Amino acid sequence: MSQPMPLPRIADTDFLIDGRFEPGQEPGEPVLNPRSGALILELAEASSAQIGRAVAAARRAFGGWSRTTPAERSAALHRIANRIEAEAAGFAALEALNCGKPINAVTNDELPGVVDCFRFFAGAVRCQQGAVAGEYLAGHTSMIRRDPIGVVASIAPWNYPLMMMAWKLAPAIGGGNAVVFKPSEQTPLTALKLARILAEELPPGVVNILPGRGQTVGNELIHHPGVDMISLTGDVATGRKMLDAAAKTVKRTHLELGGKAPVIVYDDADLEAVVEGLRAFGYYNAGQDCTAACRIYAGKNIYDRLVADLSSAVSSIVLGAEDDTTNEIGPLISLRQRDRVASFVERARELPHVEVTAGGETMGTAGFYYRPTVVAGARQSDEIVRREVFGPVVSITPFSDPEEAVTWANDSDYGLASSVWTRDVGRGMETAARLRYGCTWVNTHFMLVSEMPHGGLKQSGYGKDLSAYALEDYSVVRHVMVKHG
Ligand code: NAD
Repeated sequence: MSQPMPLPRIADTDFLIDGRFEPGQEPGEPVLNPRSGALILELAEASSAQIGRAVAAARRAFGGWSRTTPAERSAALHRIANRIEAEAAGFAALEALNCGKPINAVTNDELPGVVDCFRFFAGAVRCQQGAVAGEYLAGHTSMIRRDPIGVVASIAPWNYPLMMMAWKLAPAIGGGNAVVFKPSEQTPLTALKLARILAEELPPGVVNILPGRGQTVGNELIHHPGVDMISLTGDVATGRKMLDAAAKTVKRTHLELGGKAPVIVYDDADLEAVVEGLRAFGYYNAGQDCTAACRIYAGKNIYDRLVADLSSAVSSIVLGAEDDTTNEIGPLISLRQRDRVASFVERARELPHVEVTAGGETMGTAGFYYRPTVVAGARQSDEIVRREVFGPVVSITPFSDPEEAVTWANDSDYGLASSVWTRDVGRGMETAARLRYGCTWVNTHFMLVSEMPHGGLKQSGYGKDLSAYALEDYSVVRHVMVKHG
């Protein structure tokens, strides 16, 4: 009798708890390929017992990990970076499959960023800065310590699954914390692949990985009394739930929430550079980016040409091509997200002053594609200007007075990212100083480096990713005073 052939393994599906691998215990979610809508696999989710064991393992691991030297933790981060780099092609292929991202974008933009993030924190953890020790009270020496917080429940979104994981894990474990990490239920695959590396490079329990839905696994994790800090990248509404959960045992929170980035284009801007920039930074990752350049305010003298040139540039963005190496953007993550984006555009289109000058429709019969879209003539009070669409949709609003542009740009519940385009350096600096956003770019948009902080103001949340500031966020300042004699 012939033996049944084992099915080829598409991806790692076991969870990491206390340094060991085991399958999830609860019925889970289908994980889909956004390019085709086809099922990749069904992934179980974590049970209450598994959540409890993961938090307990993290608590135990914290005892030893928090007492390792910065040099030891740095070496571990370097090993993780090297292992990811060595397997970059496999990570990129899996991320592209699970998110529908063009393979070149993941390979050339995201994977190098992920590796660099681990390397940056490997260095940063060895050279932290602080106040000087001294005798601030006669006969007593005071010193400042920066110590880890404890167990961090880390909860990630679906738009950049591996990169968000790197942003959360590297400063947390670099700073001596232990982590229970929950990827998005829609994009758990690269987290489970990274789990294999983490299990080999870190002591058991320092990082535990538990996939599952927000309302079940996420909810139980953030309410767990054994968790000292909650770190979320996600929606504003989810951030509010984190704050409610945190209140019960006064957990620390680190919240990176949505965005609606304003882009002020003054009449003297280099139009060609603006169009090229917006074509890239308004639509990258199909606009599923909290810093996407999606809310344009254009001076009245440049407005008509900007609408015409951007609409024509956007119509040439390649997506949905069979040869994925030619694609510039991918589909949206899910049918639900595509319907949400389409309904924003439909409601905008019904307004008499609005004209959809590019895109404005779904694309193809398979997958979750939506055409890159320009919504011209939008007004400050319109929904399309005020709410986060999280899709390949850019609105353009004309302004006649620069003062009005800054006021409108700041008139938002969000406060993550912004940009100003002008040939006048002084005007760029002056506008940057007045914008209430965690980041302002001048004559560019979207660019991030590991050395500089990323994070918001207002309802975009607080807490910084990347940079030395992230290490501060995942640590606590303590004072030690020694009495002489
Ligand atoms: P989401 O808030 O729905 O989900 C984010 C994560 O939270 C997921 O892992 C989800 O399972 C979990 N979650 C949901 N409800 C929960 C609950 N009640 N308890 C615990 N966990 C819960 O967001 P999303 O749809 O995955 O991602 C898109 C959002 O993320 C957008 O609003 C976007 O702007 C934001 N985002 C922000 C940044 C930033 O840096 N500020 C970066 C990327 C994405």
